Amino acid sequence: MKILVINCGSSSLKFQLIDSDTEKCLAKGLCERIGIEGSMITYAPEGGEKEKTQTPMPDHTEAIRLVLEALTNPKTGVVGSLEEIQAVGHRVVHGGEKFAESVVIDDKVLKAVEECNDLAPLHNPANLIGIDACRKLMPETPMVAVFDTAFHQTMPEEAYLYGIPYDYYRNYKIRRYGFHGTSHSYVSKKAAETLGKRYEDLKIIVCHLGNGASVSAVKNGRCVDTSMGLTPLEGLIMGTRSGDIDPAIVEFLAKKEHKSLEEIMTVLNRQSGVLGLSENLSSDFRDLEAGYHSGNEGAVRAMKTFSYRVAKYIGAYTAAMNGVDVICFTAGVGENAPLVRSFVCEYLGYLGVALDPEANNKRGEDIVISTPDSATTVMVIPTNEELAIARETVRLVQP
Ligand code: ADP
Repeated sequence: MKILVINCGSSSLKFQLIDSDTEKCLAKGLCERIGIEGSMITYAPEGGEKEKTQTPMPDHTEAIRLVLEALTNPKTGVVGSLEEIQAVGHRVVHGGEKFAESVVIDDKVLKAVEECNDLAPLHNPANLIGIDACRKLMPETPMVAVFDTAFHQTMPEEAYLYGIPYDYYRNYKIRRYGFHGTSHSYVSKKAAETLGKRYEDLKIIVCHLGNGASVSAVKNGRCVDTSMGLTPLEGLIMGTRSGDIDPAIVEFLAKKEHKSLEEIMTVLNRQSGVLGLSENLSSDFRDLEAGYHSGNEGAVRAMKTFSYRVAKYIGAYTAAMNGVDVICFTAGVGENAPLVRSFVCEYLGYLGVALDPEANNKRGEDIVISTPDSATTVMVIPTNEELAIARETVRLVQP
């Protein structure tokens, strides 16, 4: 089957067309500045030239129309007609407690997703606009929603509750939800498969370290804890997000700097993390690694503090699962920054972790980076959220 995977933001839209039989990406691209002047579509067919075209996109319907036009273009397209696209998989950020699994989209589902909007006010409305635009242009094509939160819905109450009055959970559903679920699920399954072991028999910790970053504990094939919370701000130190802080810092900072709540949230979401720790050197680990090697103090501080937090979560999740068999690194930093992986693993002597330095320097493969006699296996598994969404879509729409 040919599956179109859509990841729709408020002013951007990423897409991939995936052949689910070969699991190969046939074409991918990005629409940027939707609804803003200077809209642009980037389209890259597999094995062909990437093309960027500036063209007006007043709304998401027009953006999707252009995507479909590019995919069916007689010269550079990869399908003869729209009928060849048999289903569409949509990434949806927040499914709240309503969705513990992916679902085929209908009006009832859309209403339930809409009810989750106040949990993800920046993301869910944009995801819904993308779904709506697709349904307008492909009314007969089945569509599936794949939620970032769904994989984490198996967490037990003691892992998802916060220590605040229970009424806030009852009334407003304030609890830990977790994000990057599609990636945590894909990577943990892939780790078991690569090792030739049963998923149900393993205790796995997945460190998804990208610009946004989260850790999850997957015990016997079910997520039992994860580091992001009600929102993606909690947990690890990220590119620009603070991760865990003492909540009293919010009030302290508001008074000291005469900032409003919104301004403080901007600091915590956009000016913190390794960017803030490195005194604005960069949120990108490529720059931080270069800075580290040239002895830049901010880069050293940011990388050490970032890695320490990851190691601390690994310790917590080892306790949560009463042990760990496999630790996986994934996403932009996890897959490409051997220095970060080695810093993290330096803390894991108590787990008998022994890193193989040569394997740790390899890139872009599903690979074991610990030595054969390491008591805990450490792996790098490149994530592929689009493929995971395509698989889910096929699973649900195939008769
Ligand atoms: P997201 O999906 O959260 O935007 P990604 O998983 O794509 O993030 O990760 C992006 C981050 O990965 C970049 O900001 C950068 O810090 C890091 N990264 C990408 N390539 C490299 C590399 N070659 N070396 C070190 N870090 C890298």
